[in-house]
Amino acid sequence: AVPLVVARSTSLAAKNGLLIKNRSAFENARKITTVVFDKTGTLTIGKFEVSKVVPVKKEMTENEIIRLSAALEQKSEHPIATGILEKAKELSVNIPSAENFNAITGQGIEATVEGKTMRVVSPGYLKVNNITVKDLKVNDTETVVFLIIDNELAGYIALSDQIRPESAAAIRTLKENNIKSILLTGDNAKVAKSVSETLGMDSFTAEVLPDQKLEKIKELQKNGEFVAMTGDGVNDAPALAQADIGIAVGSGSDIAAETAGIVLVNSNPKDIVSLILFGKATHRKMI
Ligand code: ADP
Ligand code: MG
Repeated sequence: AVPLVVARSTSLAAKNGLLIKNRSAFENARKITTVVFDKTGTLTIGKFEVSKVVPVKKEMTENEIIRLSAALEQKSEHPIATGILEKAKELSVNIPSAENFNAITGQGIEATVEGKTMRVVSPGYLKVNNITVKDLKVNDTETVVFLIIDNELAGYIALSDQIRPESAAAIRTLKENNIKSILLTGDNAKVAKSVSETLGMDSFTAEVLPDQKLEKIKELQKNGEFVAMTGDGVNDAPALAQADIGIAVGSGSDIAAETAGIVLVNSNPKDIVSLILFGKATHRKMI
């Protein structure tokens, strides 16, 4: 039988936006020393809006950058894709079709559009492929993606997301309970630094690929940390499985939810604080 205090806490948890899939994950929540957060959709709202479109190649225009990027993004479910498609709609551009779609893991997407190989990619992809941008006009809070046509930079798109109003208090409460918070994101370092500093987090790691997320969790565990990690993507599943407590974000992929012991139904970081405090309270009642 389920002990009464546990049953009660589980229903209390449900009222606080937590779906407990694995009871030992809930019982172990009191041991957490570090919470590793993904950024988009957990600490931020996860709704990207296009804030700037900058053509780089001579014959390119803002509309053309959006039209071609949208052709690729119609095949993607990333929040960046939603933002770019929204902009295409606003500009009433006719989106061409895309073939041979491929996800470039953690760095973007590629497809054939109008007979050319096109990519919409991260700053990290440019670095690895030695593509340079002169005088990039984005600020530190903007996420930027680049349109590459036949290996040449055509232009770029800046997008902005908003920090959730509840995030700062959640991080602060963790700190008051001696729990470290770390930001782990595939987004660029400037955005990661800005979010992490705004929220008073302990550290950040940016431009991480999925296997690097897994390595980061292992490294923290080797240093004696008891690690909870939040994640939403298919990409996050290996790291969620490695974490002592995997927390899937409600709005995310099914694979993340299957791997995790706990689901944050409302994708809200304040509910992680509830999880830890309930875990502690339940334990006290049991001993
Ligand atoms: P995270 O979930 O931490 O944001 P992802 O692995 O989903 O990490 O994405 C990492 C980076 O890869 C994004 O910040 C973006 O630069 C690029 N990227 C991923 N998917 C897309 C996409 N559909 N369109 C454009 N860029 C993308
Ligand atoms: Mg993700």
